[in-house]
Amino acid sequence: MDSKIAETVLARANGYCERCGAPSLDLALHHRKLKSRGGKDEVSNLVAICHPCHNLGTDSIHLNPTKATVKGWMVPSYAQTEIYPLHLADGSIVRLDNEGNYKEIEGTSWQELS
Ligand SMILES: [Zn+2]
Repeated sequence: MDSKIAETVLARANGYCERCGAPSLDLALHHRKLKSRGGKDEVSNLVAICHPCHNLGTDSIHLNPTKATVKGWMVPSYAQTEIYPLHLADGSIVRLDNEGNYKEIEGTSWQELS
């Protein structure tokens, strides 16, 4: 992975798990659209999350893929990561762009997302 992409994602997370909000010095970079589904090394396809959120905890993304997909931590192969909504730790619903920003979309109608 391009180190600039990793740095941009980690800067966006700013030392906190993007999923649960816990401070962490050891965040994992998770592909929302898995590489096996055609996901790319792009900022909008990567989230910085703690290991319990990633694959260790009983509530982790990899152990609960259906729930993770509802919340945007997993993205189906047919969807675009830049558009697919992500539910952050603080309850806001955002899209991720490839520059490392959160774009608020709360209140956006579902039609606009598809
Ligand atoms: Zn977490």
